[in-house]
Amino acid sequence: MENVAETPEKQDLRSLKAEELINIFAQMGEPAFRAKQVHDWLWAKSATDFAQMTNLSLKTRQWLSDHFTINAAAEATKQISKDKTIKTAFRLHDGHLVEGVLIPTSKRMTACVSSQVGCSLTCKFCATGYMERLRNLEASEMYDQVVLLGKQAQENYQIPLSNIVYMGMGEPLLNYANVLKSIELITSDKGLNMAARRITVSTAGIAKMIKKLGDDEVRFNLALSLHAANDEKRNEIMPINETNTLEALIEALNYFYQKTENRITLEYIAFKNFNDSIQDAKELANFALQVPCRINIIQYNPISEADFVNTDGLSLEQFKNYLEQKDLIVNVRRSRGKDIDAACGQLANKTN
Ligand code: SF4
Repeated sequence: MENVAETPEKQDLRSLKAEELINIFAQMGEPAFRAKQVHDWLWAKSATDFAQMTNLSLKTRQWLSDHFTINAAAEATKQISKDKTIKTAFRLHDGHLVEGVLIPTSKRMTACVSSQVGCSLTCKFCATGYMERLRNLEASEMYDQVVLLGKQAQENYQIPLSNIVYMGMGEPLLNYANVLKSIELITSDKGLNMAARRITVSTAGIAKMIKKLGDDEVRFNLALSLHAANDEKRNEIMPINETNTLEALIEALNYFYQKTENRITLEYIAFKNFNDSIQDAKELANFALQVPCRINIIQYNPISEADFVNTDGLSLEQFKNYLEQKDLIVNVRRSRGKDIDAACGQLANKTN
């Protein structure tokens, strides 16, 4: 075992590819099945400590812990909303915090996970957008959020996770490789074995990366946080639109659909007196009719950093009716976890 080169700082064992793990055990003169056992502990069994790997010899466990770490995310704080939504702050190995949300509804048990510490995109209505982007999350750190939220689902509601959405802190497509790697692990039969069609990645709209998802023929669903269907208004609330115009997004979404035939959802928060008029509905219909999609209208939860207000019931009804008259599929999503700042756009590590 001693002839394997030591590194000054211990490497996270989960950053290694399966082949690299096999090579390490081969260098130690151990059979290949040993690497498979470790892989199984790291992913399918979500071990956070080498001591848990009880089918390995004590000597092997000791050697692993002398040379490697497992940089697991852990629950730091947890808040449970009146509506049963659970918001969790996860502490990462370097001390940073990110938030994940478990959202139970009558039909689904959804885990909403973060992909970055903070965000660089400065969307005006989003609390995360007022934080600095500190770093991308590793695939294992997104995987850990899913595992821990899954445990909460079992412990609190005795129901397994049914869906995963990458809609927490950060822009997933700016952490492209790690997000895809995490989904590969979540969907693998050597990982969590979840169906890709139960996973949705939500983007603020980076046309080039949406096309890349198409080229990579991903199997998960895509959501675009649209929130305004006219460039001037969208530039105002989502500066990313200045370089990724609505026209570019329509082209990219159609490209994605041609390549994957995966479902596309347009997310639209209706803000009072900003984007909730019939003229806004017309513009949204015009956009949506050019893309194979369905529309989710989301209720807004005010944040202290900005003064947007949720639309009123009547405007929302008229807005929805207009879209439905155009034969568009529209769902209104009630807001969840408002009382604990767990709703869309509210994640900002406030309790920590
Ligand atoms: S909405 Fe998403 S992309 Fe925009 S600032 Fe918030 S986390 Fe970032």
